Amino acid sequence: MPIRRLPSHLIDRIAAGEVVERPASAVKELVENSLDAGARRIRVELTGGGTTRILVADDGQGMDPAELRLAVERHATSKLPGDDLLAIHSFGFRGEALPSIASVARLTLESRPPRAESGWRLVVDNGSMAEDAPAAVPPGTRISVDGLFARVPARLKFLKSERSEVAAVIDTVRRLAMAHPMVAFELLHDGRRLLHAAAAPDLPARVLDLLATRDAVAVDFARDGLALGGLAGLPAASRGIADHQYLFVNGRPVKDRLLSGAVRGAYADLLARDRHPVVALFLTCDSSFVDVNVHPAKTEVRFADAAAVRALIVSALRRALDAAGVRPVALTTIAALHALQRSTLGDRDAASTEPALPRHGGATHGNAVSGGGQQSTAPYATSSPAFTNVADLALGFDLVPQGRPLTEPPPAAPPQRYPLGLARGQVANTYIVAEADDGLILVDQHAAHERLVLESLRAHEAAPASQSLLMPEVISLDEPAADRLEAHADTLAALGLTLERFGHTDILVRAVPAALAGADLGALLTDLADDLLAHGAPLALRERLDHVAATMACHGSVRAGRALSLAEMNALLRQMEATPHSGTCNHGRPTWIKLAKGDLEKLFGRR
Ligand code: ADP
Ligand code: MG
Repeated sequence: MPIRRLPSHLIDRIAAGEVVERPASAVKELVENSLDAGARRIRVELTGGGTTRILVADDGQGMDPAELRLAVERHATSKLPGDDLLAIHSFGFRGEALPSIASVARLTLESRPPRAESGWRLVVDNGSMAEDAPAAVPPGTRISVDGLFARVPARLKFLKSERSEVAAVIDTVRRLAMAHPMVAFELLHDGRRLLHAAAAPDLPARVLDLLATRDAVAVDFARDGLALGGLAGLPAASRGIADHQYLFVNGRPVKDRLLSGAVRGAYADLLARDRHPVVALFLTCDSSFVDVNVHPAKTEVRFADAAAVRALIVSALRRALDAAGVRPVALTTIAALHALQRSTLGDRDAASTEPALPRHGGATHGNAVSGGGQQSTAPYATSSPAFTNVADLALGFDLVPQGRPLTEPPPAAPPQRYPLGLARGQVANTYIVAEADDGLILVDQHAAHERLVLESLRAHEAAPASQSLLMPEVISLDEPAADRLEAHADTLAALGLTLERFGHTDILVRAVPAALAGADLGALLTDLADDLLAHGAPLALRERLDHVAATMACHGSVRAGRALSLAEMNALLRQMEATPHSGTCNHGRPTWIKLAKGDLEKLFGRR
């Protein structure tokens, strides 16, 4: 084949493949243009999930006829005054969004600079000019995209359900709105309002307006020309998916692995591995420090000194959370036990990830702390020298004894009858300390109970033990979340959770699985909706049930931090002994660990 220069309409279509993937990406480009034009109000209207029509209207500086014609030309931009690609202060600069969109849809631009007498309309229909004429329009700019991908069926096929496409648009608009508190935003779909943010006085006010939680602390930290501000959600407000993380670099929303990795690192020992913090973080730095021109949609960035950025984020989040009194007590303890384990057991490793209960009289070390590397999330575990951590053990208990004195008489039954021993007390309102005939057992009460609830939900799957609520409870969610729950109502009913849609954003709960009586239904439904988003429709029913059951179980469990009576502790231990898989929680972490008598003796030099 001879080499040929590609015709411009093909070049535009190829570029469109990078810039306009779905309705949300077109919305992003159009809203960014409105922001670059200094708009104070931006309205986005979708019809038919955005493929029928996207309209973005603003009150910005507008364009005159000559500018309109240039705007739809390739590589025409008003935003790159010089040649320095690092000195970019606007969203745009590539000058390819409008021509790209115009090559895969019918693009109508109506614009009028505020001081101009009248306005102008320009229509480009799938790459060809269809109208270029004066029009009676208000000041500002209205751009509509009709029939996106209608002539490119291959692209249309790649779109997800209307619901997912709308959800992606909401996410896009929310991210942009967070970074521009002074601008009022409104988003409608088929005439219904999905998002509304009035102009806010400052960034924190806007972020709180749009963030999924109010349980958050302010972040404000600067070092070496880098600054991080925003809000960090408390561990208790964590979510089952990472979608509620909003990251911005110099006001630009980004989805960047380096940044989200740093966030994960900062929360590593505060959250279970499958929980994700809610954060909105704004990194500011000199524009020479960051390259935004790595990705056509400009959602990824490259930093001159990635390590410094990571360190800054971790320090800033740690400080903010520390100041709020959030401390990883539990894991310090586990790290210490790790070291203890290594020092007493050498390199012996329990290979199984689902340890068997210790058999009576057997020499098993039960749920060895180092088993299967499951505790590798504890950051200090690997590097610390063996014995110094015995001191950490004390630190983990905060040096103030939190163990509750034994006030009830110990049950009379001889301990050897029970593989998990008899409860002797509780530490940090989180761990049960039990004495077995051959050693000391520590149980994570939340993890253990969560597994018990899950197993009971599974056992009842065929005929769920459901409990009707005397007063049905109404839970308000955002609309896509309510949509997802409604769409999966059958799955949930199979587990005993009976829901009904109630208006646009409300869900009526009529019955709950018996194992979940008393659970916080708002938190439960929020997590379930997240879960359904993460493991949506393609999952087999069985698998979906499992995910849902696991999420439910988490909510039905005794939380860490609750004081238990000895009788309650013993009941939990006995139930664990009788329940399959009780050695690990639903997330695969051990629910209990054991220090065998022999190990204790070695530790104290008695052997
Ligand atoms: P870029 O934003 O990279 O410059 P675009 O194709 O998105 O490229 O837009 C081309 C040009 O059209 C912009 O540089 C800007 O001058 C003009 N423009 C686009 N949208 C608007 C708007 N809403 N208000 C005013 N001018 C606009
Ligand atoms: Mg642009």
